[in-house]
Amino acid sequence: MSKLLLSFDFEDWHQLVHRSMGQADWDSRGRALERQTAAIFELLDELGAKATFFVLGLTAERYPDLVQAIAAKGHDLACHGYDHRRVPSQAKEEFRADVEHCAELVGRLAGKRPVGYRAPAFSITRETPWAYEVLAELGFRYDSSQYDSPRIPQRIRGMPRTPYRLELDEGREIWEYPVTVWPVRGRPLPMGGGAYWRALPTSVLRRALKEVTADNSHPVLYFHPYELDPQPLRATLSESPTPRQRALAAWKSVQRNPGRRLVADRIRAIARDYTLTSYEEAHGEVVERYGARPRSLSREGVVV
Ligand SMILES: [Zn+2]
Repeated sequence: MSKLLLSFDFEDWHQLVHRSMGQADWDSRGRALERQTAAIFELLDELGAKATFFVLGLTAERYPDLVQAIAAKGHDLACHGYDHRRVPSQAKEEFRADVEHCAELVGRLAGKRPVGYRAPAFSITRETPWAYEVLAELGFRYDSSQYDSPRIPQRIRGMPRTPYRLELDEGREIWEYPVTVWPVRGRPLPMGGGAYWRALPTSVLRRALKEVTADNSHPVLYFHPYELDPQPLRATLSESPTPRQRALAAWKSVQRNPGRRLVADRIRAIARDYTLTSYEEAHGEVVERYGARPRSLSREGVVV
């Protein structure tokens, strides 16, 4: 059975949305992420799957117990930076400090320093090829920030579709795991996660993955905790609701979150055809398969 690498950008949607709205209590702890994490664990246990969690530092600080629970379950813990700022909005030294802050926090909670990184909004771009040198200097061994999506401005050119070894200065290297795109009429359709998994029917996702896995033994999928929330928006009920009111409230909840409820089911359906696994579990096979052909990144941000 072919493999798919399953990843989560582990961040608290409410924390980030409330911050962007300028709310005074944006950084307070809420119940949603606990519920979402429980739903992820339940799904992964049901499927017997391992995953890689790219943890946001801000979120790790507020929910240290959840980060420890991920580690206790045996999943990979990796970094999503601390502050969730796009890489090109940071100077090189700011980027270094942001990533180190996250690595230190996650390492302390997990008892093991993370070796994987994913940039917020897949934002290691042609403007910031130096990011890989910084990551390697900080001890990172793999990255998963490349996504050939038209929604990412100034994205790196010439990215291979499979994982590859990126040679850096002074004999250093880092492995890149690009997020899955599906070539349709010669153009990449970024179907590695997000809105595509809420919008595309399972049959289309199946077909896409069948074509993708013909050339790539380890395609990457990415999701967020909020996409697996079993109860994202609930109608408020009175203290003693009638069965009809209860049914109506439940219906409203289903009605308002159709795409989100489908994501878990689609992951379940795909898991019948593929083994879902984590980057670190698969890394040995990836090195064996793709290690022979190293690449490098030009100063203009082109993979050669
Ligand atoms: Zn993110």
